[in-house]
Amino acid sequence: MTTSHLPLASATLALASLASLTLAGLAVPAAAAEQNSAKALAYESVDRNADAIAAIGDTVYFFGELGMQEIESTKFVKSVFESIGFTVETGGGGMPTDVYAHWGTGRPRVVIVTEMDALPGGSQTPGSIDHKPLIEGAPGHMEGHNTHPGVSIGAAYAVKQAMLRYNIPGSVAISLGPAEEQLISRPYVVRAGQFKDADIAILLHLGDRFAAGDGLMNYAAISSRFTFHGKTAHGAVNPWDGKDAVDAVELMDIGFDKLREHLRPTYRAHRAITAGGIQPNIIPDYGQIWWFVRDANMPAAKETFDKLIKIGEGAALMTGTTMEYQIDAASWPQLGLKSIATVLQQNIEAVGMPQWSDDEQAFARKFQTALGLPAVGLNTKTTPLGARGQSTSSNDNGDVTWVVPSAVLGFPSTVPGVAAHNWQAGVTPTSTMAHKGMVAGSKVLAGAILDFLMNPQLVNEARGEFEKATDEMKYFAVLPADAKPPLDLNKETMERYRPAMSKYYLNKPVRFE
Ligand SMILES: [Zn+2]
Repeated sequence: MTTSHLPLASATLALASLASLTLAGLAVPAAAAEQNSAKALAYESVDRNADAIAAIGDTVYFFGELGMQEIESTKFVKSVFESIGFTVETGGGGMPTDVYAHWGTGRPRVVIVTEMDALPGGSQTPGSIDHKPLIEGAPGHMEGHNTHPGVSIGAAYAVKQAMLRYNIPGSVAISLGPAEEQLISRPYVVRAGQFKDADIAILLHLGDRFAAGDGLMNYAAISSRFTFHGKTAHGAVNPWDGKDAVDAVELMDIGFDKLREHLRPTYRAHRAITAGGIQPNIIPDYGQIWWFVRDANMPAAKETFDKLIKIGEGAALMTGTTMEYQIDAASWPQLGLKSIATVLQQNIEAVGMPQWSDDEQAFARKFQTALGLPAVGLNTKTTPLGARGQSTSSNDNGDVTWVVPSAVLGFPSTVPGVAAHNWQAGVTPTSTMAHKGMVAGSKVLAGAILDFLMNPQLVNEARGEFEKATDEMKYFAVLPADAKPPLDLNKETMERYRPAMSKYYLNKPVRFE
């Protein structure tokens, strides 16, 4: 094939396409050649902006903000998005820290779905393999969600550059949902229609592997508090006048234990007693128990939850108390489509694992040894498609996958064996290991988004697979229609620690070129 067969949009385009033809050493169709050039341009953009990508992650790390209180993080990413020409909408689903940024107006629209909240008690001095909080008791990023906005913005900027250069139609968007750790926000933004013009969603999360996911990727979860109201009385003088709300809590707990034998082996259920009385000689008029009910799919979780409600009603009947419950959160499992995961996987193979330095590998082994883990170091091979099974944890972004064709992308930015939701996972999210994984993740994201924008048949294929899957299991909202997001969630904690935490803010300018 010669340049004369290429669409003569511009001399630059022809040259760029020719370059990729020569590189590949194959006669590839013009469209494929243009795609290769667009990807090469996107990769260059990510490499050129590696410092900015890292700085975004590091800045958000030191904000260390809990779910629904991602105030500084929101302000910061909004300014970065605006600096690269993206339109930013906040307040989605009625939540001030919900961020939806987009560029372009055409279809298809590909949306990156992720989060940037921290965890309570997660404060840690980065790089220290001993537990050393920056501020005792303060929240912090002990999972690494701080890396997510960096990876997303790096990819979105790169895609925009390629779209401008090659006149690629479509649009790209990033959804940063608040309070993922409490499984709160996505059902609200789905209900508000945030994804109504989305054609493909890519759910982004860090991990120790470079992996794409399809099938049911995690668990459905329903979080609900059951509150009992009774009547106070003196425990010794007139206990017969009392109605014990904590007895109802106990009976509900025992009642559910009787049910356990009759549940499918896939279920999970756990509880915390959040109000268990005041002192022994006061019959309590108030008791509360908070339940998480989970299963491998939402219809099964909902079935168990409905039985739990009956048990609560029975406990109230037995004690003469009244019971009310509220659903605080409900998440569907993530539904990953093979058609989309395959595109992600091809891009993972094209980009490959980051090249870890000897120092990084030595640090990882030392860290693993200190934690009593096998000293295997960092992963050096990509994970084949299908090797990532269904996890029993949950993520509220599952709901997105039942309204938009989706798949999951994990990028390698953590040390294998180090558990999230633990101070240990706060050690490396600002390290060079995290930064390298972020750059690799940005490239894969950008490459996959360009694949969808430049190949409408891939979008159609995903749509077909999505329709079949969601016909077999139909989505329904578990959140009651009148439910409102808990905007004050974590507010007190954040207000208590923010003044001390603000001393560590990086205040580093971030510029994309
Ligand atoms: Zn997470």
